[in-house]
Amino acid sequence: MAMSDAPAEPPDRCEIAVVGGGIAGLSTALFLARAGRDVVLLDKGSPWGDSSGANAGTLSLQVKRTEMFEMGSTSIGLWAAFGTEMGIDVGFHQPGGLRVAESDEQIAFLREYGAEQEAVGFEFEWLEGNQLHDLAPWLGPEVRAATFCAADGYASPLIAGPSLIAGARKAGVRVISNAEVTGARTAKGGYRLSIGRRSLECEYLAIAAGGHSTKIAASLGVRLPLWVDCNMLTVTEPAPRIMDKVVTHIGGIMSLKQHVNGTVLIGGGWQGRGKFSRQTREIDPLAWVQNVGLGARIAPDLKTLRVNRAWAGYEAVTIDALPLLGRLPGLENAYVAAGARGGFHMGPGQGLVLSQLILEGETGLDISRFDPARFPQ
Ligand SMILES: Cc1cc2nc3c(=O)[nH]c(=O)nc-3n(C[C@H](O)[C@H](O)[C@H](O)COP(=O)(O)OP(=O)(O)OC[C@H]3O[C@@H](n4cnc5c(N)ncnc54)[C@H](O)[C@@H]3O)c2cc1C
Repeated sequence: MAMSDAPAEPPDRCEIAVVGGGIAGLSTALFLARAGRDVVLLDKGSPWGDSSGANAGTLSLQVKRTEMFEMGSTSIGLWAAFGTEMGIDVGFHQPGGLRVAESDEQIAFLREYGAEQEAVGFEFEWLEGNQLHDLAPWLGPEVRAATFCAADGYASPLIAGPSLIAGARKAGVRVISNAEVTGARTAKGGYRLSIGRRSLECEYLAIAAGGHSTKIAASLGVRLPLWVDCNMLTVTEPAPRIMDKVVTHIGGIMSLKQHVNGTVLIGGGWQGRGKFSRQTREIDPLAWVQNVGLGARIAPDLKTLRVNRAWAGYEAVTIDALPLLGRLPGLENAYVAAGARGGFHMGPGQGLVLSQLILEGETGLDISRFDPARFPQ
């Protein structure tokens, strides 16, 4: 989904430049502007036109690695707060989530994983047999056990994009479309960004440009090792309620949810085909059939629905599945937020961290594991 925008040119200077209008960049810009700072957000196309506008919207704490729990629960709190405290409707719902298992092997893994999570204070409920099927009678008979996490939910990328852009503008962020940052260099008192034939000087720089962050950081002499997955997603026609929880799978290969408008989103990271350098992306038909087939096994009522649309989109990730979040190695006042697995979920938390680093020079969240300097330069 892409947002249309009133044409605007980037200014010559600003206090804080945020590069990238996805969930990470918009959250960063919003929080900074709400703190009264002068913020320009630049996007190479339309804000929300890349991963954040193409994703499944799952906010599942229980699928996250334990290192991500603090950031994950902070982010869920912020997803809720957008609507309740900031007047920004992001289509947030928190029906709770089931992480399901089918085989003996998967059940053993679910137990093992649950024990690790319990050890760090994570709360969930173990369900199997009748107890599980009483709670979720719409699950297929092959689903034998699940953990239930009440914190799990989802937000609607369709609703959240326009709302967050409008909310950021209202807070004072100058949101500029069609402003591709082609390079950056240090300048007196900060940074000079090249935007086509124009340039913008800023004191602080926040890079949140998804998989493209690598290129911008490289122009500053910083190596950010990111690669991209090409995830597929399917949306059905609207239907009467057939499920009332978010579903994920212990195999890491499924996400299902039914939105309030009745459409069901079927995801789970099944890979499409694409070349990031050429920005091509398409469905892989064989993998797609397996993705949808698994969905229909988990929730058999899906078989009665027609598919409205399926697509593929890019997700930037790191080799250790932890984000690149914090100060750019060797530079002052330049930061990055990119590469979080489940980056839609994590985006508001990442925005909070970058805004706190810029406002206060520190953050209350433990981001030591996410330091971009953990990778060799
Ligand atoms: C099909 C699919 C399903 C997914 N499902 C989920 C899910 O259910 N839950 C979840 O948590 N995550 C999910 N993800 C991952 C999630 O979408 C991403 O991790 C997240 O949206 C990344 O947000 P971001 O702000 O970091 O990057 P993006 O949303 O990619 O935003 C980056 C922005 O930077 C801009 N930009 C890039 N280069 C430049 C430049 N040089 N100058 C100016 N602007 C630039 C782009 O135009 C873009 O708007 C999914 C991804 C896909 C593709």
